Amino acid sequence: MKLNDLKVNMEYFHMDDNLYQKLDATPLKNPKLISYNKQACDLINLDYKECETKDFLDFMNGSKVLKNSQPFSMVYAGHQFGYFVPQLGDGRAINLGAINKWQLQTKGSGLTKYSRRGDGRAVLRSSIREYIISEAMHALKIPTTRALAIIDSETFAHREWEKESCSIVLRMSPSWIRIGTFEFFANTKNSKENLRKLADLVIEESYVHLKDEKNKYEKMFYSLVDKTALMIAYWQSYGFMHGVMNTDNFSMAGLTIDYGPFAFMDYFDKNCICNHTDAEGRYSYNNQPYVARWNLIVLANALKEICDEEKLLEYINTFIPQHENVYLEQMNKRIGLDAVKSGDNNLDLILELLGALESSKMDYNVFFYELTKIKSFDEISLITNLCVFRQPLEDWFKSYEKVCQNQNSSFTKRVEIMKKVNPKYIIKNYMLQEAIELAHEGDYSLVNDLLNIAQNSFDEHEKFENYSKPTPMEYANVKLSCSS
Ligand code: AMP
Ligand code: MG
Ligand code: MG
Repeated sequence: MKLNDLKVNMEYFHMDDNLYQKLDATPLKNPKLISYNKQACDLINLDYKECETKDFLDFMNGSKVLKNSQPFSMVYAGHQFGYFVPQLGDGRAINLGAINKWQLQTKGSGLTKYSRRGDGRAVLRSSIREYIISEAMHALKIPTTRALAIIDSETFAHREWEKESCSIVLRMSPSWIRIGTFEFFANTKNSKENLRKLADLVIEESYVHLKDEKNKYEKMFYSLVDKTALMIAYWQSYGFMHGVMNTDNFSMAGLTIDYGPFAFMDYFDKNCICNHTDAEGRYSYNNQPYVARWNLIVLANALKEICDEEKLLEYINTFIPQHENVYLEQMNKRIGLDAVKSGDNNLDLILELLGALESSKMDYNVFFYELTKIKSFDEISLITNLCVFRQPLEDWFKSYEKVCQNQNSSFTKRVEIMKKVNPKYIIKNYMLQEAIELAHEGDYSLVNDLLNIAQNSFDEHEKFENYSKPTPMEYANVKLSCSS
């Protein structure tokens, strides 16, 4: 479809006035297209060729609105690093309405009622990171929001002593409601009615099968617990760290949202912290499942006026076991074993592997890709040559070989399983940094190349063979700031 023929649905204005502010975007100066994503265009039936028009640029920049669209920003609250903040909100994001159940949102579109001390902008660096990683996550089947396009401009903002150009990403999600949105309403006067309306909205957006069920709000919560357990299990199995798991960055749809100082771990370190302001490691790699569980307890508490809180808390007891099941299933696949068929989750073998990866200082995801490539146990030196200390991994391979024999698992079968879950390419922070540096000079080619690699991470990309190798040590496991 042509851009001019796209029509959005506005589904929020029956809600309490306090939920939103209707407003217009503040356009950037001299916007320039950086990249667009054909896959995302398909999701909203937009002919991708439209993305190369002046109209599209105006649409991204907020100076042109789609048919039926009334832009708005939303309020939320949240626990930031464990402390409750009664009012946060879309301080730089503007919602444009929904197409095919995808809520469109531009991030970086200017000041809103919820901007607090912020400038309403998103810098080029953070926008490129979100744009590419959303699509990388999706290709790995990790539940995530999506991104359709990104623009640069000649408007500038200051971040950490540096002046950077401002940018806008068009992102899409079935829902932008967060745990923090419920916390906001739990804390207001007509909380019961508002919480019900909000829960109905979330059900409409993300759990429509529950619409006519008895105890639908409890069931919504249970579904979210299940989805979050799966999402975190996928994060852990790929070494993904979010960095800012505040409750306002936690989606009611069970998706990864609000990408900031995230990282795919380079070499394995269970205590890895990717966010440079997270001095205590609240959001460290190993803490992620427990923080997610904590966030769900906060939600249970916010829902207590419309649900039986005891029942919710009881269900949360399933979170860690559910998470562990999915995690182990996924880790078994990553080493080519079939936990269901063998009736063994190979917990010991997997724990031994994590220990070996850590003490050998092996690049986490490269390990699994290389494991997919070797053709016999005589070739393990092709892998151990890539790490700093070989012995721990050599020892692990002895255990692995034994388990493979006991479980009658053949090389061909293992490769078949591993090929589906071990991509050749994982988008690491140093790659994003290279794309960002070029983009600062006006060269957006690497942004587009990385998008292509992210979306096709299991394929060969001849020109980028280097990106399938271990991260150079000087760039590995570097901490990033919140404005990233
Ligand atoms: P975040 O750390 O990105 O999850 O944001 C936390 C809160 O700060 C949210 O309420 C955001 O809307 C707000 N915020 C972050 N950056 C900006 C900005 N540049 N301008 C206005 N508000 C912002
Ligand atoms: Mg956020
Ligand atoms: Mg952020």
